Amino acid sequence: MVKINLNYEKLEANYLFTEIANRTSAFIKANPDAPVIKLGIGDVTRPLAPIAVDAMVKATEELKHVETFRGYGPELGYKFAKKAVQDYYLAYGVEVDFEEMTIGDGIGEDIANITDLFASGNTVLIPDPVYPLYKATSLMDGQHIKYIPCTEANNFLPIPPDFASDMIYLCSPNNPTGATFNYEELKAWVDYANKHEAIILYDNAYERFITDKDKPHSIFEIEGARTCAMEFNSLSKTAGFTCVRSGYTVVPKELIREGVSLNRMWQQRQTTKYNGAPYATQRGLTAALSPEGLAQADENIAYYKRNVKLITDVLEEKGIFYSGGHNSPYIWLKCPKGLTSWDFFDYLLKTVYVVGTPGVGFGPSGEHYFRLSTFNTYEATKEAMERIRTIL
Ligand code: PLP
Repeated sequence: MVKINLNYEKLEANYLFTEIANRTSAFIKANPDAPVIKLGIGDVTRPLAPIAVDAMVKATEELKHVETFRGYGPELGYKFAKKAVQDYYLAYGVEVDFEEMTIGDGIGEDIANITDLFASGNTVLIPDPVYPLYKATSLMDGQHIKYIPCTEANNFLPIPPDFASDMIYLCSPNNPTGATFNYEELKAWVDYANKHEAIILYDNAYERFITDKDKPHSIFEIEGARTCAMEFNSLSKTAGFTCVRSGYTVVPKELIREGVSLNRMWQQRQTTKYNGAPYATQRGLTAALSPEGLAQADENIAYYKRNVKLITDVLEEKGIFYSGGHNSPYIWLKCPKGLTSWDFFDYLLKTVYVVGTPGVGFGPSGEHYFRLSTFNTYEATKEAMERIRTIL
């Protein structure tokens, strides 16, 4: 009889965002006239950078003509896309070889797929709270999870523990808390990982939101990172590519464990199980990472950042503790009146028709916290916060 991966049984019955969607749609069904505003799921709402769309249209048009038609592309990415990634890194003083990067369909996929490189039974450190994917994929793979609590006391930033571990997920700026490492804090993790021959899986999805000058934009800005870290970069939040799907992953050549190159393993994995990101989306990525594309993308980020003030003004007026918003698109707030995350979720939905994200969905330390997203229009965010002001 076939043996199946029973680790899947360890997953929670409902993924956070499915539960939010279920509760919201049940409410809307029962109250069809309620003007619900969603400040919940972390999906962008501003349109793509026009230069990226134009590049994808042009690339698609090329496929219509025999002279410019293309078949399969290189599995690990076209050179023109790698050059754009290389130049993007260089702006932060980081040198990355073409052989160290892979172009993919977004990093949710790469973060999940790269787990093929690791045997089961590793001790995995996961910040708590954090993006739920790391826990889910680690459970699926039979890893042993250890949470690192990130609380008000440590400014929501994970600190290396005094015990050894094998794999470490770091997300900076963090989803959901917005906490962002400075150089020294990240260096402490690099030193810890090198000391224990562990590997850091660095999720850089919100890097473009960093405004502080003292914060690194890549873990490879840190000395020693090339021997212990891999980095995942997404165009989703940088340039609005959530629907298009595009991202890139860097695995340095110096990353060797048990005498084996993880760079080679990742290339083997991708060339075997993946046939490459679409030509048109790679043209889109290339345009999005050009100076003009980045300027257009930054206009959208500036738009979202205007919403931060709408949210934080109300929280400050009402004396509600919050963090985030500065280097990230999310505001992380303490639920008022000692409410649990889900009770506050229901309260907001039922009284003022606003949907947010319960903090406990990101890990046990997220209990009694709540995430509000700035990914909405200025008008909707203003309206939502005016309503919330009346009940705080
Ligand atoms: N990492 C974090 C921290 C995220 O918040 C998200 C999406 O919300 C992702 C990864 C997934 O990014 P992508 O759209 O590139 O799969």
